[in-house]
Amino acid sequence: MAGIYVHIPFCKKRCLYCDFFSTTLLERRAEYVETLLKEIAKRKNETNEPIRTVYLGGGTPSTLESSDIKRILDAIGLENAEEVTMELNPGDATETYLKTIQAAGVNRLSIGVQSFKDHLLHLIGRRHTAKQAIDAVHWAQKAGFDNISIDLMYALPTQTINQWKEDIQIALNLGIQHISSYGLMYEEGTALTKMRDTGSLEVIDEDTENEMYDYLCERLKNAGFEHYEVSNFALPGYESKHNSSYWDGTPYIGIGAGAHSYMGNIRSWNPDNLNAYISGINSGTLQRESETLTDKDIYNERIMLGLRTHRGISEPTTSQHRANFERLIQNGLLQRTEDKRIVATQQGLHILNRIIEDLMI
Ligand code: SF4
Repeated sequence: MAGIYVHIPFCKKRCLYCDFFSTTLLERRAEYVETLLKEIAKRKNETNEPIRTVYLGGGTPSTLESSDIKRILDAIGLENAEEVTMELNPGDATETYLKTIQAAGVNRLSIGVQSFKDHLLHLIGRRHTAKQAIDAVHWAQKAGFDNISIDLMYALPTQTINQWKEDIQIALNLGIQHISSYGLMYEEGTALTKMRDTGSLEVIDEDTENEMYDYLCERLKNAGFEHYEVSNFALPGYESKHNSSYWDGTPYIGIGAGAHSYMGNIRSWNPDNLNAYISGINSGTLQRESETLTDKDIYNERIMLGLRTHRGISEPTTSQHRANFERLIQNGLLQRTEDKRIVATQQGLHILNRIIEDLMI
């Protein structure tokens, strides 16, 4: 089984914290969609395996007309697709739009809610309101979507623990099946990082951020969600199949500007530049950069991806690697499960990136 990821790099407005590849040149959407269709036709048979998952991500896929979403999904062919996810900005949601993308084949939504507090949404430069986010979920449910994920952010400037608790409660009241939750990151070069560096933002301290994360894990566990990846929580049976295949090493084809593909031990990627991508596909000269993963790369990926999940990783085989793991187990940052796998403890999850760096070779 394999997956297809399609990147839609358009955003109506740039969020202040974002360092993803995206553009506000909406006037280029039509030629971009035509180019995507060409790339799909050319590459969808790169794998002999049936396409089980499709993911339309961005950027903001919901900046496209629903008719374009349908053309993209028709071009891919959904005969074997079990999960077809589309990211949606609440500001783009209408009852009609949700009905038409569902009819086009989308069966899972990932809605970029981020917060239910308008002042916090405004502070980080999101273009939607809390009411629009709630309406989007209700309309999606009314349209028949029964697999809905929302993104929620914590450690936002000035955010209090009580505000965070309220956000989680509002999310639970919505009756959704999946939550992805990330602490705000101050990425280099973003507008928010500049504001932090000039002292015009009240930044949340690390202890408060950890307290917010621990509350999130505990509250969602009590509500019946499985914490299956460091930032992802799902009701039983609603884990993201597409993202789980990234973590499992399942092959996937990445379509669109900046999209990455993975097949065999080869990772390749399209240029993250709109002009280079469009002209490259249309002239038949697009060169995807690629790298072949070495045994060392594969070991490091296994650590990096495996420790993020609740399945963890198998016992290391060499004595030197085992010693590193034992040290972290002694320190209470990793633990062995009953089936002899190694997973991060709650304390370990707070500093997971540092643990991973420590274990990589
Ligand atoms: S909508 Fe998403 S991709 Fe676009 S600027 Fe905001 S965070 Fe970045």
